[in-house]
Amino acid sequence: MTVSASPTAAPVAAQIKITEIFLSIQGEGLTAGVPTVFVRLTGCPLRCTYCDTAYAFSGGDYLSVPQILDRVQAFCTRHVTVTGGEPLAQSGAHELMRALCDAGHAVSLETSGALDVAAVDPRVVRVLDLKTPSSGECARNLYANLDQLRAGDQVKFVLVDRADYDWAVATAARYDIARRACVLFSPAWGQLDAAALAEWMLADRLPYRLQLQLHKILWGEAPGR
Ligand code: SF4
Repeated sequence: MTVSASPTAAPVAAQIKITEIFLSIQGEGLTAGVPTVFVRLTGCPLRCTYCDTAYAFSGGDYLSVPQILDRVQAFCTRHVTVTGGEPLAQSGAHELMRALCDAGHAVSLETSGALDVAAVDPRVVRVLDLKTPSSGECARNLYANLDQLRAGDQVKFVLVDRADYDWAVATAARYDIARRACVLFSPAWGQLDAAALAEWMLADRLPYRLQLQLHKILWGEAPGR
């Protein structure tokens, strides 16, 4: 029996589960203060003790990449951050970031650092949140990601206490992270006094950047800000 070739199937556009798309001020990292559209993907395989986006663990709506692009472009804003949850937990995140870059946006990715970032479009600035002991998810850090770092990438440590700080200092030095990326030390909101962290960094002459969460200073912990 001859089996004829089946007709070429039309490509199926990725469907991505989205919690929210909103315009705000970038609160973190090297573009802090810049108006930015946030695309928050639903779902995360981690459960950090200090998570401030647990509302993104479930729910959400499936949208295609073109639908997401339409929503983003309605804000007429160049900077776009793909965040979560853990965006890389959905394979469609890669297609979304490519499409945003192709459309001329300056794209950054906020990722836990627990999933492989190698396949992320090279035009995307990757912000890895390396998990400290107090997060409860330190064992999930994928240290091979640090070999993938390139100029412009950022590695963030969210710190709850002095033990987290000491661990972060040692880890940043062990992997020589500052040579390849910007290192950010961020106090966990409501848990570590930012002034105390600043004093520790000054005492140790750390060449890293103290980061405050500007959006929370402006608006507290309101979702969608
Ligand atoms: S990785 Fe991020 S979204 Fe996931 S639990 Fe940790 S803080 Fe929350």
